[in-house]
Amino acid sequence: MNGVDAFPPLPASIAIREVGPRDGLQPEAAVPVATRVEMITALIAAGASIIEVAAFVSPKAVPAMAGAAEVVAALRRSAAVRRVALVPNVKGAELAAEAGIDALTLTVSASEAYSQRNVHMSVDESLAQAGAIRAAIGDGLPIDTVVSCAFGSPYEGDIAPAAVASLGRQALEGGSTSVTYADTTGMATPRRVRDLLGETGTDVGLHLHDTRGTALVNAYAALQAGVTRFDTAVGGLGGSPFAEGAGGNLATEDLVHLCDDLGVTTGFDLEALLAVSSQVAGVVGHPVPSRIAAAGPRWNP
Ligand code: ZN
Repeated sequence: MNGVDAFPPLPASIAIREVGPRDGLQPEAAVPVATRVEMITALIAAGASIIEVAAFVSPKAVPAMAGAAEVVAALRRSAAVRRVALVPNVKGAELAAEAGIDALTLTVSASEAYSQRNVHMSVDESLAQAGAIRAAIGDGLPIDTVVSCAFGSPYEGDIAPAAVASLGRQALEGGSTSVTYADTTGMATPRRVRDLLGETGTDVGLHLHDTRGTALVNAYAALQAGVTRFDTAVGGLGGSPFAEGAGGNLATEDLVHLCDDLGVTTGFDLEALLAVSSQVAGVVGHPVPSRIAAAGPRWNP
């Protein structure tokens, strides 16, 4: 056996959920609704087909996400694009459904202490939200439960993969359509990605952060294992205000650049995406963390 043959086959294509307009902008100074709509429209034009556009949260708690309903209203419904909103509770889900959203994400933390600080609920209370939301809004909208701190908690350290996977299973039983495991605190490594996938299987989404420079190697490990759903943010923006030192999300352009080279289809046009990334840096008023945004593609004929 030679070294080349030892590489496992990669998926032919992946689905990227672009979270820049929500997760990415949430820790930044508030960006006007019209500018957020422009950013979302540009990302869709660059190839985003699943995009987190808003969070239906209290504007007092998260000023950067004010105007969620206006953002959704300004975006045309299209069969080709799934507009997703983060909702923290039944009230948020009802508002999102009224606004005409296509899908919901709901967060449950694998860490009890993080859950208390982030959403002021226990993990069990948080898990019960999916069922309560289903009861309130019916079966029309898909709900993706994002299990945060899936690779470790800044308060409690490592969390056993079997325990994390069990939360995901409970979310599915409780009314969620799908589950995404989030490395909120940048504690994942390829080995730990494999350990968790060993418990969950590969029909999961991964939401990776680059706090310790491991987001892209973790994504590659997951690709090799057969995972086909990833959350990324244009420019690599983002980071939880509740987790000390939480770095940005895996940058969309960094994953697309890698996938283009590997022959894995993402639906994105890298050049168009880099143009959006450059505009986004202007919007937030600082350079974005993405390496590809800084260096450009490895070869740009
Ligand atoms: Zn994130």
